[in-house]
Amino acid sequence: MSYTEQKELESTYMMTTYGRKPVEFISGAGMRLYDSEGREYLDFLSGIGSTCLGHAAPAVSEAIAKQAAKLIQVGNYFYCEGRGELARDLSLLLNRGNATAAPWKTFFSNSGAEANEGAIKLARKYGKLYLEGAGTVLTARRSFHGRTLATTAATGQAVKQESFTPMPTGFANFEPGNYESLCEALTACANKAQQEGRADFAPAAVMLECVQGEAGVWPLDEEFVRSVRSLTAERGLLLIIDEVQTGFYRTGVPFSFMHADIKPDVVTMAKGIANGFPCAAVAATGKAADVLMPGEHGTTFGGNPLAIAAARATLAELTDGDTEARVKRIGTYFCTQLAGLPLVQEVRGKGLMIGVSLSGNFAVQAADEALAQGFVINAIGTDILRFLPPLCVSEEEIDTLISMLNTLLKSM
Ligand SMILES: *Cc1c(COP(=O)(O)O)cnc(C)c1O
Repeated sequence: MSYTEQKELESTYMMTTYGRKPVEFISGAGMRLYDSEGREYLDFLSGIGSTCLGHAAPAVSEAIAKQAAKLIQVGNYFYCEGRGELARDLSLLLNRGNATAAPWKTFFSNSGAEANEGAIKLARKYGKLYLEGAGTVLTARRSFHGRTLATTAATGQAVKQESFTPMPTGFANFEPGNYESLCEALTACANKAQQEGRADFAPAAVMLECVQGEAGVWPLDEEFVRSVRSLTAERGLLLIIDEVQTGFYRTGVPFSFMHADIKPDVVTMAKGIANGFPCAAVAATGKAADVLMPGEHGTTFGGNPLAIAAARATLAELTDGDTEARVKRIGTYFCTQLAGLPLVQEVRGKGLMIGVSLSGNFAVQAADEALAQGFVINAIGTDILRFLPPLCVSEEEIDTLISMLNTLLKSM
């Protein structure tokens, strides 16, 4: 079927939740994608940061094919091969290899939003057990936590909520990077709980992305992240770190909270966990790890043998070798090259999660023209470009992109 026929079918039979770009991808390998007309592209978006090992990474594709031929799904009423091993390996990664540290316990789901839903439910149950019924989750403005109703309410962006009111209650926002603002929001929640006689309106948890991805790649100050950890610990509140986009070495360390050298109570992950295969997880440690009881939370597909096989193969590749040093080195190189381009106002990011603010509303046009020239990059809003390449991107591939962008931006 041609691209034109595909476009026609989708516009007739699919909801228009996305304004799609004019290309139909057929196959990929590593950094490269191929469209229905046989054209080759360099992919600097990697399935929105999910194919961290590159497209069709042989180890993962083979693990999926092998498992698919053996067993795909049995449901969570039974034990299944590989699930305990994956949970153990995630615990080790969250503890940065320290096998004697307290374990993390995991619940597997299918998407980032679902992982965050799990974290929110966990926080509310925790509040029932340990915080006199408190149940409000505080999140940062400009954050992104998903598209389900509760995670839309958690997302600190009014534009994403307006069409879908009434929003679920029990969420409040603070200014990212602003400690005073967080303190004020906590006080406001406590006061509201008191005035309305609703214990569940009191704060139970803070949920945070250490690098806010969807709003244009905004790294939070590490000192701020540490102060949020101290404050939540002092008050007995949970700290949930949303690592859906930042996890699995994207920012140069296994998880972005490690830059601030803190230990959260709850961590959510998805995107990079299984090299693009749907899989997600919420992990908790300490008292939070034992809060959810049989029957309180569940999923049909989460943690199915196929997803587990894909995640295990991905994790094995990521932790075998010098991923950390490599992502840091290549990320620094990429940022330096981007900073020298015309129209570039600011380069932000960590590792291979990079945002570029342009001095003018050229982002959409730049991304569209880049695509026409065989480069997949992402525009956020009107003036930000985002880059989330596979972690295997080479300096030569970065040079090729930079040379194209240099000519492109000069002409704008
Ligand atoms: C993408 C993303 C989500 C949502 O993940 P889905 O798999 O699309 O549900 C949540 N939080 C962050 C930080 C994300 O980047």
